[in-house]
Amino acid sequence: MIKVLKFGGSSLADAEHFRKAAQIVRSDPANRYVVASAPGKRFPEDIKVTDLLLECYRLARAKKPIDEPFGQIENRFREIIKDLGLNLSLEAEFATIRLVIKNRAGRDYVASRGEYLNSMILAEYLGYSFLDAEDSIFFTEEGVLDLSRTDESLEVLLGEAGNAVIPGFYGSMPNGTVRTFSRGGSDITGSIVARAAKADLYENWTDVSGMLMADPRVVKDPKPIPFITYRELRELSYMGASVMHEEAIFPVRDAGIPINIRNTNCPEAPGTMIVPSAEAAAAPEYIITGIAGKVGFSAIYVEKALMNGQLGFCRRLLQILEDNGVSFEHLPSGIDTMSVVVETAALEPHKENIVASINRKIEPDNLHILDNLAMLAVVGRGMVRAEGTAFRVFKALAEAKVNVRMIDQGSSELNIIVGIDAADYSVALDAIYREFVK
Ligand code: ADP
Ligand code: ASP
Ligand code: MG
Repeated sequence: MIKVLKFGGSSLADAEHFRKAAQIVRSDPANRYVVASAPGKRFPEDIKVTDLLLECYRLARAKKPIDEPFGQIENRFREIIKDLGLNLSLEAEFATIRLVIKNRAGRDYVASRGEYLNSMILAEYLGYSFLDAEDSIFFTEEGVLDLSRTDESLEVLLGEAGNAVIPGFYGSMPNGTVRTFSRGGSDITGSIVARAAKADLYENWTDVSGMLMADPRVVKDPKPIPFITYRELRELSYMGASVMHEEAIFPVRDAGIPINIRNTNCPEAPGTMIVPSAEAAAAPEYIITGIAGKVGFSAIYVEKALMNGQLGFCRRLLQILEDNGVSFEHLPSGIDTMSVVVETAALEPHKENIVASINRKIEPDNLHILDNLAMLAVVGRGMVRAEGTAFRVFKALAEAKVNVRMIDQGSSELNIIVGIDAADYSVALDAIYREFVK
């Protein structure tokens, strides 16, 4: 039996959490490989080490001194080392990193140093080898993960190490420079390591007792989801349930390795088991598995008489977005109308161009852009069989006086996606949760 454990930023934010994490690791000899994040927040107003590093990067680029944020970073690590009573000095590492940042190192190198340093401390504390992700996780020339090369080299290195701590969040480019995943990417590293180690289980240790049925910052005390399929998790995390990085399931999915989301502060809770298929999961207690959502969307609404009869209309509209480098999220359409939902932040810089191109190439009867939208997804493998689920979603929204601006039933029949005003987001999430969880 081999297990890979990933500890998130809040699970390694200070010495107290290091102790809890170490106790978890030591509780089972199967816990051979550990992936570590950079120290996260210790209290709500605290700043994550990764954010402090990015601040150093910004200052260095502006040719300003980095001493203030860099000093804070050094002190956080010094405090952890001292409180754990370790005979380890990272002073030489600090000096090198400080110098490289001052000499205007690349953004990804700077951002990655939190996991690098934290993993060195954890390796020392556990008595495990430190295996640098720079030497074992590889990206292609295009900057995407090179899974086959990574698998090949990582499998050998892990075998040689026996027990190891691997920093999350980064790897290296073919030219040897550091590259990071997007924010929250240590979850992906955990998955990559689990795959290369041919692990029986990937445990993702965080600060909540599993994936919850709704965002706990919006809905009070949402219930944990005991079992969820890869598919459902992908839908929920893509739509905003940020407990796991939305790309983290891919490396383990075809290897069939289950993921267990657990709480470092409550190790006795079983957490959430992420499994390949509904057959591998216990029957769900509720019709819906979870609800997730995000604000910050815009809908481009296009209307043109007899549009449905025109060949290539949809393609032309999407081509305009593609030409402007804007990807779309949802595509609800009607007879002679079509809406394309995009992220407002992605649309904003290209808005004028896109509007001009649509007017020129499509000559719509009506074109407008609706801003300040929130998109909300109700997801569940139990929804296919249960009649009246959509009715209950819309009844709950109507009773909460939430105006539905758009509806998109996913082709998987696993989800119902609704667009609402961003101002209604919390009320809507809560209303749907209360409708299904009584
Ligand atoms: P880590 O630092 O361990 O990687 P994250 O902060 O990335 O942890 O993810 C855990 C957080 O995700 C929780 O503290 C919670 O606030 C947030 N979250 C959002 N939606 C959900 C959800 N549906 N279930 C659980 N947590 C959620
Ligand atoms: N430390 C990185 C971040 O804050 C990666 C991670 O925590 O997964 O995004
Ligand atoms: Mg995370």
